[in-house]
Parts: sequence; C-alpha cells; structure tokens
Amino acid sequence: MGHLEFSEDEVRRYSRHILLDEVGGIGQARLREARILVVGAGGLGSPVLLYLAAGGVGTIGVIDDDVVELSNLQRQIAHGMASLGRRKVASAAAAVQAINPEVRVEAHPVRLTADNVADLVGRYDLVCDGSDNFATRFLVADACVRARRTLVSAAVLRFEGQLAVFKPHAGPAHPCYRCLYPEAPPDGMVPSCAEAGVLGAVTGVMGTLQATEAMKEVLGIGETLSGRLLIWDALATRFRTMRFPRDPACPICGQETEAMAHAR
Ligand SMILES: [Zn+2]
Repeated sequence: MGHLEFSEDEVRRYSRHILLDEVGGIGQARLREARILVVGAGGLGSPVLLYLAAGGVGTIGVIDDDVVELSNLQRQIAHGMASLGRRKVASAAAAVQAINPEVRVEAHPVRLTADNVADLVGRYDLVCDGSDNFATRFLVADACVRARRTLVSAAVLRFEGQLAVFKPHAGPAHPCYRCLYPEAPPDGMVPSCAEAGVLGAVTGVMGTLQATEAMKEVLGIGETLSGRLLIWDALATRFRTMRFPRDPACPICGQETEAMAHAR
C-alpha cells in the first residue's frame, strides 16, 4: 500500500472521488499507483484514456500504430483537427496531459504481435482492450491470462456494444475470453466498423463503461462484471447481461487451472 500524501491541488482535483465512501483517500491513492494499458487509441480507447487520466490513474500505457485520419474524428474524441497525420499515441498522450499533467503516459507506437505482447502486458496491472480486430483481441486476451492480468474488453459495431471483464486468475468462477469465444470467427464473417459502420456516440458509451469497470477493478468495489457479458442495443435502448461460465476444457485458462493444481 503506497503513501497517502496528496498535494492541495490533488485534493481539489479529486475531491468528488474522495467524497465517495467507496473511493476516499485510500482509493484515490490506489488509482494513482495503478498502471493501466489501453490497447488502441481509437473510438473506445479515447474515452477510456480521457476518463482514466481525469480520474487520476497514475500510469497509463497506450498502444497504437496508426495515425489520425479525418474519418476517425466522427468518434475518436481524444483527437482533433490539429492531430491529423500525427501518431495516435502522441495525439492521445497530449490530450491526456492537457487534462491531467500528474498522469504519466507511456506511448507505444507499435503493432501488438506475438513477440511483444507478453512484455507489454506484463508491465501493467490491468489491460483495457479497445482494439478493432479479432487477431489483436485474442492476442491480448491470451497474454492477459498468462500474465495473470485483469482484462476489460469492449467491442462495438453499428448500434451495438459489448463489454466484459476477464480475470481467470481470481478463481474458478472467473472465465477468460476464450471460455466465451474459443476461436476467432472466420475472416469476413463478422464485419469491422470500417466495413459496416458504427454510430460514434456508441463507442463513447462503451469506452466510458470500460473505464468505469477498470476503475472498479482497481478499487475493488461493487459487483465485478467478470463472468457476465453486457450487451447494449442502442437502437432499442436496451442493456442486458448474460452469465457465462468458465470452460473446464478451455485451451487457455483450463490448462492454467491444472498447472496451478499440480503446483499446490
Ligand atoms: Zn478460459
């Protein structure tokens, strides 16, 4: 547990957090000590980054190898006209610093691969995945299981969003991403936002929910979303959650359970 010293400015900046019984000074210190990795500085990553920064998460890593394009600005609210052509991680880091210079941003202008994912994930306590493709989602999800890191994963398409928390290291009641989606769908079966479109504000809602769940996990408050999938239909204005179990035969977290049992 780290120190609880806050500057006068910090007390003022986070006063609405500190007022909450569930956060308080101890929770705010926990947020300041947290290291969160955000995968993708796009439609989901933008609100995640901005709210984590505003809320005082001490160290925020951001991975993205893209540059800002005009077609991004319909939803990627961390970026503006002045950032067109600039690396998204640089633009996002500047947006974070403009809100909260107390936050340390670690910019990773790289594409996640099987070679670098373990190292990058291992440097952080928790990962928020806002990537836009299945290859990256599976890469991140598997790396999080191996490194025993909590994963807060969101996805959007057209007028719909999904959100889930995965932390199989927390016990047998907690499934991993592959317990829900064992394999990536065949290429072309699920269209991307670039192919099928997305209402910009839908990414904002889902990214904001993602930031909320990430902060809940850091603070250890409320009812975890782990083991449930949240689905939002924006056209119907309907949220629903469905439970899903851990798969004992899961190729990723099933093995870990077995290895852990042997280790005991
Ligand atoms: Zn699993």
